[in-house]
Amino acid sequence: MLQKTSHFLRQANFIDGAWVEADSGNTIDVINPATGSKIGTVPRSGTAETRRAIEAAETAFQSWKRTSADHRAKLLRKLHDAIMDNQDALAELLVMEQGKPLAEAKGEVGMSAAYVLWYAEEGRRVYGDVVPSPWADRRILVTKEPVGVIGAITPWNFPSSMLARKLGPALASGCTAVAKPASQTPYSGLAWGVLCEEAGFPKGVVNIVTGSASEIGDELCGNPLVRKITFTGSTEVGKLLIQKAAGTVKKVSMELGGNAPFLVFDDADLDRAVAGAVAAKYRNSGQTCVCTNRFFVQAGIYDKFVEKLAGAAKALKVGPGLEEGTQQGPLIDGKAVEKVEELIADATGKGGRLAAGGARHALGGTFFEPTVIAEATPQMRFMQEEIFGPVAPVFRFDKEEEGVGLANDTAFGLACYFYTGDLGRAFRVMEGLRYGLVGVNEGIITTVEAPFGGLKESGLGKEGGHQGIEDYLDTKYVCIGGLGL
Ligand code: ADP
Repeated sequence: MLQKTSHFLRQANFIDGAWVEADSGNTIDVINPATGSKIGTVPRSGTAETRRAIEAAETAFQSWKRTSADHRAKLLRKLHDAIMDNQDALAELLVMEQGKPLAEAKGEVGMSAAYVLWYAEEGRRVYGDVVPSPWADRRILVTKEPVGVIGAITPWNFPSSMLARKLGPALASGCTAVAKPASQTPYSGLAWGVLCEEAGFPKGVVNIVTGSASEIGDELCGNPLVRKITFTGSTEVGKLLIQKAAGTVKKVSMELGGNAPFLVFDDADLDRAVAGAVAAKYRNSGQTCVCTNRFFVQAGIYDKFVEKLAGAAKALKVGPGLEEGTQQGPLIDGKAVEKVEELIADATGKGGRLAAGGARHALGGTFFEPTVIAEATPQMRFMQEEIFGPVAPVFRFDKEEEGVGLANDTAFGLACYFYTGDLGRAFRVMEGLRYGLVGVNEGIITTVEAPFGGLKESGLGKEGGHQGIEDYLDTKYVCIGGLGL
């Protein structure tokens, strides 16, 4: 059924099928980053509310795990339809709290629905094995079962689709969930409660708690009823959660920070590379873990690339996400702007040249100019630090091995991109880059059909593809003896 945006704006926790406040009655303000004004509040919940949500999820799990995959798929298809019917309203809510342009928000909501549909189908293909037995009178079965209650902690940059990647496989496989959305963007998370209610999921199958990250996180990680933690966010917090989950030996899936390189070789199609660069850099104002952090451009094409990228950056229309034609919205908050300013000052202090932007945007608030910094060097902070803003540092390299070496010189290993017209080089470089996601002559590559996930300190586990459901399943070996065959 078609609903208004206000229908999805819930200022309460969703626990055991009920919309409830924090025990203390305390709240957190939610701010629209484009205007600086308050949209509303959400509960400032902590340990007690999280524990109740976990217990509700555990109770619901006892019956949910016994439903058929086909039954769960039908509910997930209803959920998919509810999301698509309300794509515009959900996208508007997302823009209000997150800031991205409406077209990007619609794309994100569409992606959420696509994950749900994908896992509706994948859940029906959770196969076990019948293994040839070494004993004549015994049979060997290998079965897959849902792990149980999962705890999902999600970030503010994709407040809808990051939850879809976790709830989709969880619900499809027969798990139940307690989710904690980021405090900056809780409404797109809470909207999942409304949607699940309307699709007909039983109470307690999905629970959503807002509030203190450390209290909620500690309870999710420490409570033995939770059997898996799935997290998307910073490497720093991810490492903490892995440590905390170790106490009860939970499964963990971690989608952590990136430091994406984008290499352009002399033999690349320059215009295609620039178009890919704009998409891989300025989407969501540079605030995605797969956004390019470092451009490495071969010397023969360097000046032309910088000139064209700077021209494209200057042409981007900055504005509020809900305004027609906006291509880049505000940054999430003041802290994000300060970090970007610091990194630019560091670079210009070390010889970087501003080819475009470089300052806060005339619109004020947290709007920032799309920026290009030429003559970047490995001594600059963004060689190792995630920028998470609309700043494109462009480094120069001569030889292929040097470019690949620079690209790999980081503790991260999420996404990377490179542009070349040479097929041999395409394979050499693809095999040389230590990253979980590789775009060859493409700047945007995420899709539900493919496994998304990082190497090294960028994470553990995959989301999407047929791989994405594995971490929600336990494998059980069953030996059936005494068959008297
Ligand atoms: P970002 O830098 O993108 O905000 P964070 O890792 O800080 O990334 O946040 C991602 C998610 O993790 C958010 O929902 C945030 O509230 C949550 N979070 C932050 N600190 C903790 C913590 N100590 N324990 C559990 N969750 C946390």
